[in-house]
Amino acid sequence: MLGKQSLKQSDPFPFHRGIRPVEGELLSSYLLRLAGGHCADPYRFYSHLLPGVQVWSRDIDRHPIPAITQLLHDRCGISADVIDSMSLQPIQRAIDGPLVPTAKCWGTWINRLGMFHRLRTLGGLQVCPICLSEAGVYLRLWRLSFVTSCPIHLVPLYACCPDCQAPIIPHRQLRGVNRCHRCHVDHVALCLRHVGGRPAPTGQQALVDALSGIPVPTLTGAISLADLARGVNLLRGWGMFRPPEQVRGHLVESQGPLLRWLYFDLVHELASQWPESMAQLRVVGRISTATFERARPPPWLECVGDQLRAPPLARKPVSRTSLAQWLKQLRLSKPAGWREKRAMALLKAAGK
Ligand SMILES: [Zn+2]
Ligand SMILES: [Zn+2]
Repeated sequence: MLGKQSLKQSDPFPFHRGIRPVEGELLSSYLLRLAGGHCADPYRFYSHLLPGVQVWSRDIDRHPIPAITQLLHDRCGISADVIDSMSLQPIQRAIDGPLVPTAKCWGTWINRLGMFHRLRTLGGLQVCPICLSEAGVYLRLWRLSFVTSCPIHLVPLYACCPDCQAPIIPHRQLRGVNRCHRCHVDHVALCLRHVGGRPAPTGQQALVDALSGIPVPTLTGAISLADLARGVNLLRGWGMFRPPEQVRGHLVESQGPLLRWLYFDLVHELASQWPESMAQLRVVGRISTATFERARPPPWLECVGDQLRAPPLARKPVSRTSLAQWLKQLRLSKPAGWREKRAMALLKAAGK
C-alpha cells in the first residue's frame, strides 16, 4: 500500500509503521528496517518509491543521496539533520577536518566496502553479535577502522561470515534473519557460540573519545582527531611511520579487524608518547624541508620539521694515517695474498 492516500502522518498506518531511527544506527540499517516494516524486499521497495535511483549499489552511508533524504523527510517526517547524523558524513568531517574539501570524501579511517554492483567485496561492515541479536540494528560505530571491539560488550567485532568468509551484506540477507547471503549460515548465532570477552584495544577508546571532541592526550599536550589522522597519514606517506608488515602498501581502511587493531595500537602509542616517540620515526634523509613545508603538516608535527632543518652532523674526519696503519697491520699479520692487496691499495691511493 504505497499509494499517496495511505501515506499521511494522520493515517492509522503511517508510512514509517512505527519504525523510528535508533541512536547510533546507520542510515542503510534504517532503510532496511523501513522496507521490512512494509514486508517488502528492499530492492523492489526503493525502486518503486525512487524509480531510477540506485540505492544498494553504492555506499549509501558514506554518500547519502538527496532523493533518500527527501523521501524520509516527506514520508517519515525525519529531519534532514537527523538523516545526516545517521550517515557517516559527520564522522567523515570530524576525521578529515577543515583542510579537506567536503565534496572530496576520502573516507579516512572509515572502512571500505569494496562495492561491486550490489555486492561488497570487503568486510567493511563489522558486527557485534550480541548487539545485533539484541537490537537488530547496524551501528555507525561498526564502520570505523579504529573500532574493532564492541565498547559495550567488550567482544571482538567480526567483519565476515565465520563459515564462508563472505562480507556481511545486510540487504542481501533474508528479512529479519542474519543468514549469510552466500552460505545461509546464521552468522550471528554461530559467533555467539564462540564469543569471548576481550578488553577493548588500548587505542580504540582514545580515538572514539577524540571523535566526540576530546583530543588524544600526549606527553606535553593533546592532538585533535583530524590533526592526528592527517599527521599519521603524512608520516606514513613519507615512510616515517612504519605500520605492521601486512598493512604496508595497502589502505588500512581495507584491512581486517586484527590488522587494524595492531595498526591503531601503534597510532595510539605514537600519539600518547609524543614527542618522545619521535625517536622511533626515521626522519633523517626521508624528505626535504621543502616537501615538509609544502604539505602544511598539523602543529604537532612541527618538531619533525625542526629535526629536518637541523644541520647534519659533521662527518668524522678521515685519519691521514689510516692507510699507513692498515699497511703496517697487513705486513705484521701477513694474511693470504697480502702482497697483492698491498699493491692494489697503493695503486688506488696513487690514483687519487
Ligand atoms: Zn555489543
Ligand atoms: Zn557464509
